[in-house]
Amino acid sequence: MNELQQVYKNLYSEKGNRPYPLEKYKFCPQCGNKFLQCDANEITSIQCSNCQHIVYSNPLPAVVVLIEYEDKILLGKRNGYFGKGKWCIPGGAIEYHEDFISAAYREIKEETGLDNNNIEIVSILNVVSNFIAPQRHVLSVVLLAKFISGNPTPADDLDELHWYSLNEPLPEMFLPAEVNLIEYYASSKSNGIVISR
Ligand SMILES: [Zn+2]
Repeated sequence: MNELQQVYKNLYSEKGNRPYPLEKYKFCPQCGNKFLQCDANEITSIQCSNCQHIVYSNPLPAVVVLIEYEDKILLGKRNGYFGKGKWCIPGGAIEYHEDFISAAYREIKEETGLDNNNIEIVSILNVVSNFIAPQRHVLSVVLLAKFISGNPTPADDLDELHWYSLNEPLPEMFLPAEVNLIEYYASSKSNGIVISR
């Protein structure tokens, strides 16, 4: 069991939650047929006995962007349901019609006011699974962006933005994976996989 799986397991045992997100569905979203009691062992999908429609339980795809300026990175203080008051790498969920780069620029614009004149996304640093809560498993593509110019202004899911030096201790971060990512980037300065558009 790796570190993230342990975090997930601890969440269940602490809160008495069970990892069966499909239990919340009572009716087929396609035909309205009433689902029978969800099998407690059924984690990944449930099929309607009337129209055969299958409801899947998948991780949520997301992007986060490590914006770098000189030896500093831009972190945001969260105000949402998960991790309120803790710090995070700005980003968010990918929408159905979006490629992940467009999603990254949109989320950064929403949360910091910075657009593609202010930052340039240059590479993929990593891809991580974050088991945030039993009902929220997020698969995040971690991107690196170079800061060009501008004045970051917090909005949407963030209350505050701050440039943190890569040479100083991090504030209290939302996810262990973010700490690992930033520490690895600070020590390796590896740019990962370069993006060409
Ligand atoms: Zn159905």
